[in-house]
Amino acid sequence: MDTFELMAKKMNEMAPEERMKQIESLKAMCTCPGCPSYTICAKKARESLYCAMGKSFMCISEEKGCICPTCPVAKNLGLKNKFFCTRGAEKAQRYEHTLWGSTMV
Ligand code: SF4
Ligand code: SF4
Repeated sequence: MDTFELMAKKMNEMAPEERMKQIESLKAMCTCPGCPSYTICAKKARESLYCAMGKSFMCISEEKGCICPTCPVAKNLGLKNKFFCTRGAEKAQRYEHTLWGSTMV
């Protein structure tokens, strides 16, 4: 198991309140609002933590760069992907890559 798989397992085993606390603390660390792809719509909708929560809900469609690799959450969770707001959460992207054997740049 790599870091991400271990962290996902740990979060799955947490009580719902504990998991919510963990999510809130990760959201506080998310650097998406400083990213060129982040939009006013996303800000108004208070979107963040796409790596765990999944794609933006109709607020981000254009990829203008991704600063996820420099985010502390990426290191903490052992993320291997990026552009989570447009391409889906780490879990979803890993699954897709397994199915299609592709690596997006
Ligand atoms: S890795 Fe990206 S999506 Fe995840 S918290 Fe950091 S900036 Fe946000
Ligand atoms: S997921 Fe990546 S591309 Fe999307 S807003 Fe966050 S840092 Fe930018």
